[in-house]
Amino acid sequence: MAIRTLCLIAAVILGCSTGQVVYRSKGFKDNFVFEFDEICKEMDCNNAQYNYHRNSCQGPHHWSQVTPCWSKCSSFHQSPVNILTNSALYRPLGNLQFSNVCERVGINLTHKGHTPHFYVRENSSVILRNVPHKSEHCYVFRDIHVHLGRTEGRGSEHAFDGAFSPMEVHLVFMNTKYSSIREAKRYLGGLAVIGVMVEIEKKKRKSNSGTRGGRRPKRSISCGNTDVCRVKRARRLSFLIEKYYKKIELEPWRTRIGKKEKVKIDVSEDISLDDILPYDLSYFTYHGSLTAPPCYETVQWIMMRCPIRVSGEAFEAFGNVPDSEGYPLRKYGIRRPLQRGIVGHPKVTVERNFRCGSTGNMRNVCNRRG
Ligand SMILES: [Zn+2]
Repeated sequence: MAIRTLCLIAAVILGCSTGQVVYRSKGFKDNFVFEFDEICKEMDCNNAQYNYHRNSCQGPHHWSQVTPCWSKCSSFHQSPVNILTNSALYRPLGNLQFSNVCERVGINLTHKGHTPHFYVRENSSVILRNVPHKSEHCYVFRDIHVHLGRTEGRGSEHAFDGAFSPMEVHLVFMNTKYSSIREAKRYLGGLAVIGVMVEIEKKKRKSNSGTRGGRRPKRSISCGNTDVCRVKRARRLSFLIEKYYKKIELEPWRTRIGKKEKVKIDVSEDISLDDILPYDLSYFTYHGSLTAPPCYETVQWIMMRCPIRVSGEAFEAFGNVPDSEGYPLRKYGIRRPLQRGIVGHPKVTVERNFRCGSTGNMRNVCNRRG
């Protein structure tokens, strides 16, 4: 907030001159012209702020310039990427292996103004093994969060053959070599993130479709063909988003050490991977980065071929969550633009663990009533 205020004041004082950048934003009321270097740089990394406003000096196109610690944000192995499914290389990587996939774990909800995170409480015994190219390592389940966009059909961060989904869930796993995500994200192989595309249920089924939003990859000719997918209805995830994201509005922002603020909410229910993962564990994988500052290139991305589906109520509740300035998240979206796999950007090598046209690698489904 302080930096943005400073931006506005300095912009008025400085006026126009050569080499300046013009920013036009509805949020700023008027057109401001200001020196990027002088206004938006924050030398203290701990105080640096970022946002998803495309026309802001703290927006995604400028993250690498905001503070020296975020220089990676303009590097060559950045995420998200557009996955060209027919160009992905088949490798016999095998299936992901989970321990305690049915075990429901306790979570807390934390919102720092970008996207709310369900953090898994300590002592999780939910373990992921056989991460591509990291098969000797174990990863523990730590975090669930979701991305969405300004428009319903373009909310995922990744794309398959140029097609986006309304939302994208990220399941973050931490290498057990490390004691915290904060530590793990600094090291190559420190994190493995499973990305799942999310469709939205229709409120009332009027036609044979059953979903809305998003544009699926072209069928039949595409290795990203999702016609073969039996789409999972993620009822519990929908319920938790509906119930707890709505509560964020009612909670005051709490100042913590430094200038940043967050909302923390205790969650009385628990959740398991079984509640979120697609039935089919076919995936695309590549080496990439965090999709938010500091953009460390330490993530093994595992993008599931098949989507899941959440309720329209959950989608609405998510879009209404306020950011730290009070704007609903849907105003600017919570998704970083594509960094690779499109014309004019660095290339990305993507692999897959399934053969095109196969019905995939179906997982066991947990046997429970709830
Ligand atoms: Zn994410």
